[in-house]
Amino acid sequence: MADIKQKIQFNKNQIDFISKIKTSDSFSYKKWGDDELLDLRCYIRNYYRDIQKGECAFCKKDLSIVAVGNAHVEHIVPKSIYPNFMFEPKNLCVICADCNQIKRDQEITKNTPNTLKRKYIKYPRTSKSFLMVHPHFDKWNDYLEVFNGFYVGKDDHKDRKGSFTIYACGLNRKLSKFGYIKEVYTDNEIMEAARNLIESNSLMEKCNAIETLKKILRS
Ligand SMILES: [Zn+2]
Repeated sequence: MADIKQKIQFNKNQIDFISKIKTSDSFSYKKWGDDELLDLRCYIRNYYRDIQKGECAFCKKDLSIVAVGNAHVEHIVPKSIYPNFMFEPKNLCVICADCNQIKRDQEITKNTPNTLKRKYIKYPRTSKSFLMVHPHFDKWNDYLEVFNGFYVGKDDHKDRKGSFTIYACGLNRKLSKFGYIKEVYTDNEIMEAARNLIESNSLMEKCNAIETLKKILRS
């Protein structure tokens, strides 16, 4: 069973409004931040924050419950790549400020990881179409686990969604910011794998490093 069991429903007025936005000549993914979408964004945020029980869909840390600062509406398939999926109910969830900032920076630098395996006209209906753990189709715990604050992909799954999610959302940001976790500091093998994970520019090398860390931590 997926983490999000019920997608958001829009009422008739909201559907008409969305349709008007999407068919306007000036429609682009940048439209998302416009003031006229404020009420709609608020509605989406409140809905998913409730249904996700106040947890970020990607790192599972707590969202703020009352304030808007640490609960951001997220487009699982990036809106900069697929603006057409911007209001797709299954493409929406809420995430924390740090996951959001990392994803927004990628958008600004045009380095947003595409979370879809190939090009789609209609929004995909199954988990296997996505490279990333998808809260409407997947159970987070099936793909990821946390050891001493360190995120590890359960990559027994062929598609390595766990590792891709760690990479796309920078889930091990605390480790890269503050250095190695005390418990793992003495083990050279772990140090080297952790360094590869943080410093390598290759997704494959990062995946291999995560695989190594997983084996060490489980041993
Ligand atoms: Zn998060």
